Amino acid sequence: MEKADARKVRVKAIIRILKKTYPGVRLALDFNTPLELLVALILAAQCTDSRVNQVTPGLFRKYRKAKDWMDEDRTVLEHEIHSTGFFRQKAASIQKCAAALVERFNGEVPRKPEDLLTLPGVGRKTANILRGNAFGDPAIGVDTHVARVSFRLGLTRQTEPDKIESDLTEVVPRAEQVKFCSLIQRHGREVCVARKPGCETCGLEELCPRTGV
Ligand code: SF4
Repeated sequence: MEKADARKVRVKAIIRILKKTYPGVRLALDFNTPLELLVALILAAQCTDSRVNQVTPGLFRKYRKAKDWMDEDRTVLEHEIHSTGFFRQKAASIQKCAAALVERFNGEVPRKPEDLLTLPGVGRKTANILRGNAFGDPAIGVDTHVARVSFRLGLTRQTEPDKIESDLTEVVPRAEQVKFCSLIQRHGREVCVARKPGCETCGLEELCPRTGV
């Protein structure tokens, strides 16, 4: 892999092009508060963001605080989130998380990564997406799109999310880390798709070694 300095230069060019390609891009999940984003992220496992966005407005009107989620009857919640799949697991995760927030964080989603990582079911990806998008802190959340597209772009040679995060943190400017993830996710959904990337129509073609393609 090329040296970090060369990757830094390429990353800046990649960000510049993708910002023009996807103006106004942001996280695809809808939310207004850190708690809403936490719930949306739990629901988004093995489910599309658009499906989650169909379900959450009604939920967010009904459940305003962590205690509301915690106190609900489990079967009612399961029914409400049924269409997002894995509804039993997700209902349990939401309620365990909500209980931890009530018991240890006064009902609020904590901002520090070391606190976020103590919440049941919250790993680095979820913690970083929360930090970046709900609190505006620099952070790289490595989801499947960020992992795949960063690898193809030669920004990492790693396949483990924690190591990919570390490679990207080294070369993506802190102020652009959250935007970078949203841009790469969008590009991964629309052009650099998993099965057959659209290299012939990709605006990044000249900057991309197409590793593994
Ligand atoms: S050139 Fe191909 S592999 Fe590289 S980012 Fe574009 S679509 Fe993906």
